[in-house]
Amino acid sequence: MTTKGNLFILSAPSGAGKSSLISALLKQTSSRPMQVSVSHTTRAPRPGEVDGQHYHFVNKAQFQQAISDNQFYEYAEVFGNYYGTSEQAIDQQLAQGIDVFLDIDWQGAQQVRMKKPEVTSIFICPPSKQALEQRLRSRGQDSDAVIQERMAQAQAECSHYQEFDYIIINDDFEQALADLTTIVNNQRLKRSQQACQYSDLFADLLA
Ligand code: 5GP
Repeated sequence: MTTKGNLFILSAPSGAGKSSLISALLKQTSSRPMQVSVSHTTRAPRPGEVDGQHYHFVNKAQFQQAISDNQFYEYAEVFGNYYGTSEQAIDQQLAQGIDVFLDIDWQGAQQVRMKKPEVTSIFICPPSKQALEQRLRSRGQDSDAVIQERMAQAQAECSHYQEFDYIIINDDFEQALADLTTIVNNQRLKRSQQACQYSDLFADLLA
């Protein structure tokens, strides 16, 4: 019997190191396949971003059409751009037993929790406001005005920390990665998951 994949939400103010943590997690050896969901967005690609890999880059009309067609599991407006998660893609991955990670904001997290209460949600926090601003600046991708706007948005994002199941403080990267790995393994070891994955074993043990 194929075990259904686990669904994880990772939210954080931008600059908290969420993307680096997710990509480091995915590079680790894992007992189960893992994938990050590729969202649709109306934002312009940043240098180095590849369509279909980092995001599906679409225009506003295409995004509106996808909303009308009920294609999104969740969607939200973040920093003046639209972002959404394709329902079909997620369901297919989960059905294949893939653990799926949604890199989405608090608004999307609220929508996913309503649809899938069993989702595991993780909030990644910077160690301080100062560290957050420094990280945003060191990326060298955004203008001063955008950074100031993102700092204000960071406060808004952080105000929702109590809605999440887990909190990781990303001060030391390796520790934060270890914490994230622990949370993922914890979810995989739950009885509901193990009973499904090892149904033959339990059938045999009880025969
Ligand atoms: P960025 O433009 O820096 O890649 O992402 C900006 C914010 O949008 C991040 O907080 C990111 O988690 C969020 N985001 C990215 N994709 C989605 C999505 O599909 N849905 C929602 N609700 N937020 C998203």
